[in-house]
Amino acid sequence: MRSGEFRVSVTKDYLVFASAHFITFAGHRCEGLHGHNYRARVTIEGALDGESWFVFDFVTIKHVMRRLCDEIDHKVLLPLENPKIQITEDEESVKVAYEGKPRYVFPRSDCALLPVPNTTVEMLAELLTNRLRVELDKLGAKTLTAIEMEVEENFGQSAYYRVGLR
Ligand SMILES: [Zn+2]
Repeated sequence: MRSGEFRVSVTKDYLVFASAHFITFAGHRCEGLHGHNYRARVTIEGALDGESWFVFDFVTIKHVMRRLCDEIDHKVLLPLENPKIQITEDEESVKVAYEGKPRYVFPRSDCALLPVPNTTVEMLAELLTNRLRVELDKLGAKTLTAIEMEVEENFGQSAYYRVGLR
């Protein structure tokens, strides 16, 4: 009988996304557009699989995480739920206004429109966690108890999001 708990963690040099963003602050302050080489690390907690003696298959986690990072790699990350940022799309382009004033026009294929209120690392960590959770559910992962996602935007500068699955 084991009394300890297990978790597995994955961070790889391909679990990165080089993306552009800007965030809004309280009041009327808004950053200019800039980029980061973001890096993700995921930690998954759960019971051991009775046959394989692992929490979850590393190959599968790496594969799913790589796909989630690739979806937002080399994109401008834009928040769909920020009341200060107005986003309008047409076939070719995405227009971005801040507090009603036009600010940017991007080619549509260069944008990732995200269901977040601000593209902080905290919100990106939560978003990646939610997307990973959907994928793990599809794969029938039933013994997992928690997911923790770290998103680093600079060396030594990360946000973490953790969600229990039970
Ligand atoms: Zn930034």
